[in-house]
Amino acid sequence: MIRVSNLSKKYGDHYAVKNLSFEIDKGKVYGFLGPNGAGKSTTMNIMTGYIAATEGDVEIDGHDILKDAEEAKKCIGYLPEIPPLYQDMTVKEYLDFVAELKKVDKKERKNQVEGVMKKTFITDMQRRLIKNLSKGYKQRVGLAQAMIGNPDVIILDEPTVGLDPKQIIEIRELIRELKKDHTVILSSHILSEVAEVCDEIMIIAKGRMVASGTAESLLKELGSNNTIELTAKGNKKEVTEIIKSVNGVKSCTVDNASGGCVECFISYNNDVEIRDELNKKLAAKNISIYRLLNDSKSLEDIFLELTDDAYVEKIEKEESAKEAEEKAKKAEEKKSKKKSIAQEIVEELKDDESEEETDDTAAENAETEENEEISKEEE
Ligand code: ADP
Ligand code: MG
Repeated sequence: MIRVSNLSKKYGDHYAVKNLSFEIDKGKVYGFLGPNGAGKSTTMNIMTGYIAATEGDVEIDGHDILKDAEEAKKCIGYLPEIPPLYQDMTVKEYLDFVAELKKVDKKERKNQVEGVMKKTFITDMQRRLIKNLSKGYKQRVGLAQAMIGNPDVIILDEPTVGLDPKQIIEIRELIRELKKDHTVILSSHILSEVAEVCDEIMIIAKGRMVASGTAESLLKELGSNNTIELTAKGNKKEVTEIIKSVNGVKSCTVDNASGGCVECFISYNNDVEIRDELNKKLAAKNISIYRLLNDSKSLEDIFLELTDDAYVEKIEKEESAKEAEEKAKKAEEKKSKKKSIAQEIVEELKDDESEEETDDTAAENAETEENEEISKEEE
């Protein structure tokens, strides 16, 4: 449906978006989640053809957003961060105007405008001037204009920002409704909103995609702390030995606790389930487990970790190291290419010289023959 490849946007020396690639499938709600300044609006503005990228491509339903802009734009409805509303128009005048701009068939216009007003619950407001509407209603008008033309994809930049809790709930409900007929992409800096409304989450930090997937897959992939806290009734030495013998255990510390118990802190390898073996081995030695805590991260922890400056700086460092490596490799390739060309030239010159030498010898020989002939004649 939408394919974004290696998208970058540079402002001066600063990358607002760096090397972003992802695909959007039909019928789902996608959430761009990231702190302020992460690059969400920039990405959306590029995807909708509002601004041009420094590098990379956006393809919508097979249409390039720059080369085939008109067809590509027909597939998208966009509600930018600041809705493009004309304050001195009434709701209906404005939506009629948008329908005309989007070249909706004249016979269809009335139907469509009425339809989107109904879906966004603004029919009663149609004769009001936009400037006199509350922020919540203005946002609904913004949503309605995005829906005109019945685009396959609806892109909403921070659709609930600045709304009160009741309005937020109403807009979220509308977004859920939209899902029935459209693919929806929305951005937000609020984790709970994205987790609640979206099927797929893309976490963006400093213009980079740092993780993506469903809430469950993100939790599964990134949520494990790979640590277990355990209280068992048994001897410290024996318990330590048993734990260390369990497949996947990296390290463990065991301390004596009250009542003949020990407190263990175990760290284990990613993707290994150690609890079954741990249980069995301890039970086989008649050691009872009194408490076992497999602590895991919440989605919030994951989000904070991935969007933390330190984490993103680490990614940036890795990126520049990789870039430097590639540059060095290219320079080396260029050098060896130059060297081989130089070598070829030298060899060619050598060939030419030896050919000249043979020519010279031939000429010399001819000369001697001639001289010999002359001397013979003289004789
Ligand atoms: P978000 O929507 O996630 O809050 P933006 O896409 O608005 O983030 O901004 C991403 C980065 O690009 C920020 O650092 C911002 O300051 C910068 N940026 C955005 N637009 C411009 C611009 N027109 N000129 C210079 N820098 C910009
Ligand atoms: Mg923004």
